[in-house]
Amino acid sequence: MDDWAVIRVAVAPLCTEYKAFYAGDTGDGSPTPGIGHESAGEVVDAGPHSIVKPGDRVVMMVSMACGRCAICESGHYMHCEDWRDYEAALGTTAGAGTVSQYVARPSFLFMPVPEDVSLEMASLAGCGLGPSFGALQKLNAGAFDTVLITGLGPVGLGGVVNARFRGTRVIGVDPAPWQAQRALEMGAVAVIDPTQGNAVEQVRELTAGHGADYAIECSGSVAAQRLCIDATRRLGGMAFVGVSQEEIGLSVSRDLLRTGLTLVGNWHFNRQDYGRLLQVIRRSDLLDLLVSHRFPMSRLEEAFARQRAGETAKVLIDPWN
Ligand SMILES: [Zn+2]
Ligand SMILES: [Zn+2]
Repeated sequence: MDDWAVIRVAVAPLCTEYKAFYAGDTGDGSPTPGIGHESAGEVVDAGPHSIVKPGDRVVMMVSMACGRCAICESGHYMHCEDWRDYEAALGTTAGAGTVSQYVARPSFLFMPVPEDVSLEMASLAGCGLGPSFGALQKLNAGAFDTVLITGLGPVGLGGVVNARFRGTRVIGVDPAPWQAQRALEMGAVAVIDPTQGNAVEQVRELTAGHGADYAIECSGSVAAQRLCIDATRRLGGMAFVGVSQEEIGLSVSRDLLRTGLTLVGNWHFNRQDYGRLLQVIRRSDLLDLLVSHRFPMSRLEEAFARQRAGETAKVLIDPWN
């Protein structure tokens, strides 16, 4: 495994592993085996062709991409069609899941962390900030725009951080009071409870009748997907970020031709944007609000229970305690 490296994990952020845990799955529902797909740490071992070396502080790109195809060369590792088979490569699944003391990966998936950035904050380059960062890049949302963000769990709250960093005006949507409050603390101008009244009308009232310029859907619910389409202004754009297996009905004339709406899917961020994402991590003053809980590995089940109960933003695991 000439181009692989091993890190000693300092922090492993949790994503939606708890859902698979309570469903009785052995993995976490992501394409790599084991629990967890986000981590930051220090390189402790590296093959002769690794691009990182022992002692390097790194954050892991969420992916098991091949690193060689045209899509990988473009930096969109999550969309690689030739993901590496971890077990076939290493003969074990140990170190595949990131909620672990040591993690191995092809070395190009480990991105360097500058001295002035803590590994804990760098770890937010996983699913805390990565998916919504990629979405905002694709939509090219900026300070003149209003962005609607539906679903204010860790990914949606990460979206508020990214949107606020760009100076974007944020309207959130979430029925849970804790999540709404956290988004307001982060600077959202309003958070709409979709179970109370007509949410499309409430967005229009907040946007001079036209709708939001852009929307980022982070909940995965069909109702929220529909709300984003209906509450985005004509010629605006919407990004699907929340994982969803459900079908959503679209009317080409009503939803696309008359509106001129651009719909994009976005799973994560492009490797070439890592430097920009680091600027968010370095300069945003909202990251402390994005991390709500820290648990030692010995209390992982309690962390899962906490996530299932709600009232969490990003939850971080220390695998050494
Ligand atoms: Zn590839
Ligand atoms: Zn994730």
